[in-house]
Amino acid sequence: MPDIHSAHESPLTAGTGTPRLSALLDAAAHGDGRAWSGLWTELFHNGTLDPAHPLVLPALTAMAEEGTVEALSLAGALLVRDDGCPEPGRLREAYALEVARLLAAAHRSRQAVVGSGTYCVVLEALLGVEGGAPYAEELIGGLLNEEYEIECPGPDGCGEVWVVLGERGHFTTAEDYALAEDDVRRVPLRPAVPGTGPGARLHGYALADGHPDVARALTYVCGEAECPTCGRSFRVSDVLAAPRPR
Ligand SMILES: [Zn+2]
Repeated sequence: MPDIHSAHESPLTAGTGTPRLSALLDAAAHGDGRAWSGLWTELFHNGTLDPAHPLVLPALTAMAEEGTVEALSLAGALLVRDDGCPEPGRLREAYALEVARLLAAAHRSRQAVVGSGTYCVVLEALLGVEGGAPYAEELIGGLLNEEYEIECPGPDGCGEVWVVLGERGHFTTAEDYALAEDDVRRVPLRPAVPGTGPGARLHGYALADGHPDVARALTYVCGEAECPTCGRSFRVSDVLAAPRPR
């Protein structure tokens, strides 16, 4: 088992974990799918390997340029987390060339991938590589799960609102839909084609890239939703994008 404590004491030491890192990146580059869970765990979740290690972003960039969505996705997540750390931009400054190449790879991938789930993963990575959209994970996660669990933005403290998209319908409820009885009150969502903001851009991409199902889901995310408790109308995308304590 790795010594997590000592790894955290010197996370920027280039030599730390190099053989392990090198082996994982090499396995991933040779198509060993199991290497990705190791890379996510050690680079992202528990920090036993350093994302600023000189091997990491160049290797992920090279794989992303070959169309490996896992590499693009991990690179995007590492950049988003780095943007939110106490010294934001550490990775972006050190690896500006790779970030530019990742961005180009993300745009090529969105035009190439098949399947709306993978397409959503590419959109999330694209937003992550671009930076400036800390809500991207929630926005895209809701598209993938066909559900958002958000706080009513009204002043009345209504609490949670479940926003359901997809085969079960498009509506809000005040109860956890998965646990609720059939007679739970549903308020239909009112879709709208987004005119501005990140929703509009993603909607345009989804249409241009041949993913009308994703584009349609975005019309609900960027349309009008109503809190079933207080009746306040809001846009899901606005609630997700609003600054809030994390
Ligand atoms: Zn409310």
